[in-house]
Amino acid sequence: MNPIVTRFAPSPTGHLHIGGARSALFCWAFAKKNGGRFMLRIEDTDAARSSLESARGIIEDLHWLGIVNDLGPYIAQNGSIGQHDWEAGSGHPPVGEYFQAKRVPIYNKYLEQLVRAGRAYPAFESNEEIEAQRKVAVAAKQTYRYPRPAEIEYGNFNAALEARWKRAQSGERHVVRFAAPNEEIVVHDQVLGDVKYAAGEMDDFVIRKADGFPIYHFAVVIDDETMGVTHVMRAQEHLNNTPRHVALQRALGFRTPIYAHMPLIVNMDNSKMSKRDKAKFARKAAKDAMAKDKAITAASLSASTGQDEKLIAQFLSADNDSLEIAQALAKHFKVPLPEIEVWDFRQNGYLPEAITNFVSLLGWNPGLKTPDGKDLEKFDMQFLASHFGIERIGKQSSKFDRAKLLSFNADAINALPDEVFASRWRTWCEEFEPEFARVVGSADERWLLLARAVKPRAKTLRDGVRASAFLLRSDDATDFDAAACEKNLLASDRQGLSLLRTVRDRFETVGELEWTAPILHSLIEQVGQQAGTGMGPVSQAVRIAIAGAAVSPPLGESLAVLGKAASLTRIRRCFERFSA
Ligand code: GLU
Repeated sequence: MNPIVTRFAPSPTGHLHIGGARSALFCWAFAKKNGGRFMLRIEDTDAARSSLESARGIIEDLHWLGIVNDLGPYIAQNGSIGQHDWEAGSGHPPVGEYFQAKRVPIYNKYLEQLVRAGRAYPAFESNEEIEAQRKVAVAAKQTYRYPRPAEIEYGNFNAALEARWKRAQSGERHVVRFAAPNEEIVVHDQVLGDVKYAAGEMDDFVIRKADGFPIYHFAVVIDDETMGVTHVMRAQEHLNNTPRHVALQRALGFRTPIYAHMPLIVNMDNSKMSKRDKAKFARKAAKDAMAKDKAITAASLSASTGQDEKLIAQFLSADNDSLEIAQALAKHFKVPLPEIEVWDFRQNGYLPEAITNFVSLLGWNPGLKTPDGKDLEKFDMQFLASHFGIERIGKQSSKFDRAKLLSFNADAINALPDEVFASRWRTWCEEFEPEFARVVGSADERWLLLARAVKPRAKTLRDGVRASAFLLRSDDATDFDAAACEKNLLASDRQGLSLLRTVRDRFETVGELEWTAPILHSLIEQVGQQAGTGMGPVSQAVRIAIAGAAVSPPLGESLAVLGKAASLTRIRRCFERFSA
């Protein structure tokens, strides 16, 4: 049995960030390539910010992407959360819990081991005292370092430490600090090479908080050891945490796993891609609007969005990055917020295979060429699982090119057989555009007909809905795009209306069973031929009548989906509107 184990260890404080999806994907691919196992662990020790709902959302998003874990939590058919653990005979004892908040007794056991070895000690200063010390350091332009109390002897459980431990055990409020070693630590990173941290850089950092929960550094080290993790592949922002992890591993007598830190993901302007981008974007939209229209103020925005005026004012001056306000402002100004989380892409109609393909190229590439000599970029999960390797992960930040992702998505949509697209599009609509799904109805043929019509031009699943918006229009709607009507119905002495009348007369003779896309198409073509105008002007006139505007999916399909009665009602409305 191959012992390789990778892990993805999200903190459940929100949706799965697209960068997290990349980490998870690389961990998954590395494990698959090497016949190992991919583990999911939920790092929920920050009780105030973590939620089970977020954990569930992250697990769902990962599974939706096809990144399925061999070990750790999964969502069962009935919606409950189950856990895959090491099975008997696997060479590793079962882990039990994969949610850190449930592993506190395990952390406490190791914590006591460190205390008794003189490598950790309770500290009793209040937050205010520490804050005051920090301020003194900042005023003196120094980096604050917690000063190890003189009575603490590195590596010795002396009487003073024993006395502190007793105080702590008796319930006095305290944190536990690690007695950091005074030695150079070199992190052998598989992507970045050796990264050196000089002796004396590390201070006695907290490993258990006053609320009894371990600090991230401590929990992660114990879990990676006890869960059998061999390869830690994570975002580069964790690189500077790694010497602490290595120091803790040494103090606890643990092995050090192999580390690989992945390059940053940045926006096209090189700024770090972060959840805060949504706030930045909404703020800019609001400020642009305010610059143009002085009547827009925090107060007016509060009145129209229902958000607190003070919070809006703070948001506008970048004193908060509230997602709720960002969303309210985006809705108000009708601007879409940038997609950052997997959920954003999912609800905007991206396909998981396009996302995983695109994301796998953020900092990695297979180093292969297509037959026509270009870099090979299009591949599936299977390919990734059989070609992925750490050695081809780059050091440079990778640009998140949204246009490229959109084109990957369009290609992925186009590559689907019509039936498959129809069924996936329908499932997506049922979840994210239920009103549209209701109007299309339950008949598979209707979905297939419409799907065929929208697929060639849809870059996202939502595009397919936008293109078919005419279906949502009520049959007796009387609003028609004025410019389109002028051009296609009224110009040249109402030529369009007269063509519409001819075609309407022909439509009326078509039986319900003949009301199909090819028959309607050729009928429109005939009318165009007979009138000597060609098909174009006839189509446009019909299109305006049924869709209210000069755009719709191919007309035959549109009419067929709409049905004979509704099509004729809409055409009649159009005549009424122009009193023709
Ligand atoms: N829980 C950490 C995070 O969400 C990940 C830590 C790790 O991968 O070591 O950023």
